Amino acid sequence: MSKEVTLETLTNLAKRRGFVFQASEIYNGLAGFWDYGPYGVELVNNLKQQWWRAVVFENREIFGVDGAIIQNPRLWKASGHIAGFSDPMVEDLKNGKRYRADHLAGTDSTDLNVLSELLKDKKSPDGNQLSEPRVFNMMMKTWIGPVENDSSVAYLRPETAGSIFTNFENVRETTRSKLPFGIAQIGKAFRNEISPRDFIFRVRELEQMEMQYFIHPNDQQKQYERWREFAWKFLTERLGISEENMQWHEHEDQERAFYAAAAHDIYFRFPHGFKELWGTHNRTNYDLTCHMQESGKDLTYFDEATRERFTPNVIESSVGVGRMMMAVLTNAYTEEEVNGETRVVLKIAPVIAPVKVAILPLSKKPELMTLSDKVYTNLVRSTGYNIEYDETQSIGKRYRRQDEIGTPYCVTVDFESLNDGCVTVRERDTMQQTRVKINDLESHLKIR
Ligand code: ATP
Repeated sequence: MSKEVTLETLTNLAKRRGFVFQASEIYNGLAGFWDYGPYGVELVNNLKQQWWRAVVFENREIFGVDGAIIQNPRLWKASGHIAGFSDPMVEDLKNGKRYRADHLAGTDSTDLNVLSELLKDKKSPDGNQLSEPRVFNMMMKTWIGPVENDSSVAYLRPETAGSIFTNFENVRETTRSKLPFGIAQIGKAFRNEISPRDFIFRVRELEQMEMQYFIHPNDQQKQYERWREFAWKFLTERLGISEENMQWHEHEDQERAFYAAAAHDIYFRFPHGFKELWGTHNRTNYDLTCHMQESGKDLTYFDEATRERFTPNVIESSVGVGRMMMAVLTNAYTEEEVNGETRVVLKIAPVIAPVKVAILPLSKKPELMTLSDKVYTNLVRSTGYNIEYDETQSIGKRYRRQDEIGTPYCVTVDFESLNDGCVTVRERDTMQQTRVKINDLESHLKIR
């Protein structure tokens, strides 16, 4: 990462190259909501695919689900979200703007007394007087059916974990699983964040990748360490994120959810500082216990071998897709001097790059276009990669464009190709060019 990558640089690149647009941009946007453009959707899909592979496919005892976004509100009563999913906020008494009290106070504490003390002489960012801090519930509400009253209220899920807990018994039974086993889910979640900001870092509609691992209480420490290590390795080894840009952050007592026995977040060096990217939490048996109480259903587990009945503990691994994308872009953003010009290049791990290969005919002569089209079609079909075909502008501009979206390989088809059946492959990071036989093209690409 070049040192000077700012939020502005990143936001501009994302917009200019079609990764991320403001939602409803032509209506001046909507705070906390973003749309992914052509390259954003590819990058996000690749991140989700890698995570799913690493979690679900590579662990025989982990299974996927895809739960509904709206669930019976009793689920959120049981989980404590209706009563307690809140952040402390303060209001600018002049213009009504709301802020996270803990952020303004520069603390991890969410205790109202502590915050009130820290903020007593502070002004709002606009220089006005602030209200006393108070708690604000972040659940987004809707109504089910034709009548809008208290009995038809429902909530958009604030995290995906809810339907994992309620499906614990369904999944255990249908997969005939014994402990330990896990359930994974990728999906949208909604949080009415008080002050969405910092590009896609803090949004109101987010997507999470979560995995709950159900274990015997004796297994807590070992599994906690295992899933912490998993998160670290996924980011460094699969996504190629530099360890220099990562650090562990252990939750202090006042920061940790009251049910969690331990919580470690991986912080990433975002353009606005080291911030939370991925959480690993020991949720004890809190969730299953609450759902048993609220539903009256038995969610205990019987261990045939030891003849023991108990409520499983849960280790949770939870990461936001958008934050992961922002971390990948920040980590990959590089500016280099090449022949007195600045080259902007996204050094994204090839496996998650939005476009794997760009096929670039050197001219628009029909014979070259026919050959290029054939190379393109064959390669798309045989590899299944997202491949781009670009015949516009000068070759230099086309390379620059592909560098900026992180395409690992550019393939130029020139007049010589018609005679020798070879193309020139340019590698993104080294800019090295190699002459390769069209038939050997696929094996030349190192995508994994
Ligand atoms: P924060 O302290 O930043 O508000 P959190 O501790 O509430 O986050 P969790 O509830 O543990 O977050 O959610 C798990 C993951 O989901 C986070 O690590 C983050 O990657 C992502 N996430 C949570 N809230 C948001 C948000 N508003 N916008 C984008 N991603 C989010």
